[in-house]
Amino acid sequence: MENNRDRSQKVIEKMMKKEALKKSMNHVIDLTKIDGDGAFPCPKCGSVISPDDESEENYQIVDTQVQRDQLEALIVICKRCGTAIKLVGFAQQPQA
Ligand SMILES: [Zn+2]
Repeated sequence: MENNRDRSQKVIEKMMKKEALKKSMNHVIDLTKIDGDGAFPCPKCGSVISPDDESEENYQIVDTQVQRDQLEALIVICKRCGTAIKLVGFAQQPQA
């Protein structure tokens, strides 16, 4: 059983996710077009976001889209300015 507080927290998270998905449509980063380790500057504030940075210090992953066991897209939020960014281009990366 979940209490009302848990439930409202879940509703808020769902709303945030929906809002992030909507916002991220304005900022799409194609990782296949980025040189180096895949780090890129936030389109809004310029804060460097690196998908390899597992500490998630500069960004937060809010959603992942997977298709046929392949990572299709990642929605991240820049922690500095709150901009949601959609990352695409994972599928082309060869398996090691
Ligand atoms: Zn930013």
